[in-house]
Amino acid sequence: TDIKELLLSRIRDVADYPEPGVLFKDITPLLADPAAFTALTDALAELTVRHGATKIVGLEARGFILGAPAAVRAGVGFIPVRKAGKLPGATLGQAYDLEYGSAEIEVHAEDLSVGDRVMVIDDVLATGGTAEASLQLIRRAGAQVAGVAVLMELSFLPGRQRLETALAGAPLEAL
Ligand code: 5GP
Repeated sequence: TDIKELLLSRIRDVADYPEPGVLFKDITPLLADPAAFTALTDALAELTVRHGATKIVGLEARGFILGAPAAVRAGVGFIPVRKAGKLPGATLGQAYDLEYGSAEIEVHAEDLSVGDRVMVIDDVLATGGTAEASLQLIRRAGAQVAGVAVLMELSFLPGRQRLETALAGAPLEAL
């Protein structure tokens, strides 16, 4: 489709970042192009509304950049999920495995509650570890998962499969 080509044309491949052998998808050219950024924001907001979400969770840090304007456009609240140690209030935490070692993300406990339907937004789905942990956090808070929406899915990695259990039938949308 037209939007897919527009978005793809604004994503830059950076070789050997952050380490040798990795081809990093850099979204900063897209953010710098108001037509592309607006089209992306509108598409993410449309998915949020279509799947009946009442809140957007954005994953640090690029999920904040994409999720916040989508939340405003969709008329729903925005909730940051951050790397451990960054949020000032009482938090729920979820650890997850990385290729080497592990990481932990957190959300303010009072930001999610029973009755919320949450759309998770991030820029890139790679191994799926970050998104999977966010879905576990949302369910532990008692909220429902409306879906996951990303700009780009790296389909040569098994992220979609990794998310299957945590999604429990909710959609994974990759623009
Ligand atoms: P995962 O947990 O799915 O392996 O990694 C996804 C997280 O790492 C996302 O928060 C995403 O922002 C970041 N990430 C991994 N690979 C890339 C990439 O090639 N480009 C960008 N922009 N982010 C990436």
